Amino acid sequence: MTDLVLHWHRRDLRFSDHLGIKAASEYSPKVVGVFCFDPALLQGDDVAAVRVAYLLGCLEALQQQYEQAGSQLIFLHGTPQDAIPKLATQLKAKTVFWSLDVEPYSQHRDADIHQQLEAAGVKVSCQWDQLLHPPGDVLTKSEAPYKVYTPFWRNWSQQEKATPVKTPSQLEGLNAEETAVLQELETISLPTLQGLGFAWENGFILEPGEEAAQDRLEEFCDRLIYHYDENRNFPALDGTSRLSPALKFGAISIRTVWQATQLALDNTRSDEARHHIQTWQQELAWREFYQHALYFFPKLAQGPYRDTFDHFPWENNLQHFQAWCEGKTGYPIVDAAMRQLNETGWMHNRCRMIVASFLTKDLIIDWRWGEQYFMQHLIDGDLAANNGGWQWSASSGMDPKPLRIFNPASQAKKYDPEGEYIRQWLPELRSVDSEYLVTGEIPPLEREAYGYPQPIVDHKQQQRQFKQLYQEAKG
Ligand SMILES: Cc1cc2nc3c(=O)[nH]c(=O)nc-3n(C[C@H](O)[C@H](O)[C@H](O)COP(=O)(O)OP(=O)(O)OC[C@H]3O[C@@H](n4cnc5c(N)ncnc54)[C@H](O)[C@@H]3O)c2cc1C
Repeated sequence: MTDLVLHWHRRDLRFSDHLGIKAASEYSPKVVGVFCFDPALLQGDDVAAVRVAYLLGCLEALQQQYEQAGSQLIFLHGTPQDAIPKLATQLKAKTVFWSLDVEPYSQHRDADIHQQLEAAGVKVSCQWDQLLHPPGDVLTKSEAPYKVYTPFWRNWSQQEKATPVKTPSQLEGLNAEETAVLQELETISLPTLQGLGFAWENGFILEPGEEAAQDRLEEFCDRLIYHYDENRNFPALDGTSRLSPALKFGAISIRTVWQATQLALDNTRSDEARHHIQTWQQELAWREFYQHALYFFPKLAQGPYRDTFDHFPWENNLQHFQAWCEGKTGYPIVDAAMRQLNETGWMHNRCRMIVASFLTKDLIIDWRWGEQYFMQHLIDGDLAANNGGWQWSASSGMDPKPLRIFNPASQAKKYDPEGEYIRQWLPELRSVDSEYLVTGEIPPLEREAYGYPQPIVDHKQQQRQFKQLYQEAKG
């Protein structure tokens, strides 16, 4: 009888260029996939309906891929610490494979399951699939993790990158006896979004699954990547890849993505085009920088990296927070961005920085409130990247530049000069003159007529206030 091996999928929801499936298939052709719906994650206070919807779509596509290969993807519902060892022992699996993760919750969970499986005589095999360079590969001369991005990038970019691996197209599935065992276990069919208690009807910025991610990568690397550095800061343009949900859930492999950037480099002799491609590669490195940071400094998940912010006197005005969440602060660029998030589950990077600065430096609200709200609404919500982005914006992170305060009007003037993005998300202001729209200098009576709120705070005054509080906190 052929040995059975399981691959437990978590953030690696694809079939091609998959280190775990490849390694498993080298051990035995009978590779069966498993995914466990963990109530602790689904019922947490940082779940977004759009993200769950995207996850389900990716799982459906993955299930089809397993079936086409002659195997299957098993779904479980329950605490993985109970469900995974039970499944593996009852099915008499020889080895359980999974891809490693940097998040503290995953690491504790995995260590527990690893121990249980080994105690039960089931082997465990783990791979770093979601990063080009796992934590520990990119260290300073004194073998310490980097705390600053630029030297990290210099080191990271010089290291050789792995190329895509070939995943087998044919696998073996469970036999009749194992299928009967499975029926006695608490396996489920792929749940619906509604069945999990969520609703999302607004579509996706990127369709779920490997195919859509591959198509978008191709489209991006054929055309958009050659203008990335020029267009990436203008939220009205289709200037960025929008691959973030696929990278979050591993619907596309980071090796495949990197190889596409190398091909784009090979396809051009223009220094300018090469510069654009390299700028995009730097974004991929930011992703890895924040994942390494979370791995080495798990305290980031709990609070600020810098002590100055341990007891920072945040004002935490609930009404202001509500206005920020709803896109009703009276600052057009901030409100447009929040409405884009609420309506689509995604927000342009430039706008993420603007609204994060506004929440922390203008409204003087604890960045963790914003971090959580983002997690509750983002399709790509990811602990490492989101926490990194918020701590960068709040000035509480590892970065040496302490105070970054964005002026919403100057940001809009620079990056949405015609107010195109603002108009798209604030239809009530469609007829306002571009000049007033971007500066936000819309007269009070006009605001009233358009049903648009007055500014809830004064930027200059709040900037002074924040700086004073910061000096006191530092002192
Ligand atoms: C406050 C704040 C919160 C954020 N929260 C998240 C989050 O939860 N999940 C998330 O994936 N990104 C987050 N980002 C980073 C960034 O905004 C998104 O990755 C980007 O907007 C996704 O769009 P894209 O795929 O078109 O990016 P592109 O510009 O095409 O970049 C390519 C990829 O690089 C990665 N990347 C780009 N910028 C960053 C960055 N600054 N940090 C880490 N990775 C990056 C992403 O995987 C992205 O898909 C956040 C940024 C800020 C300022």
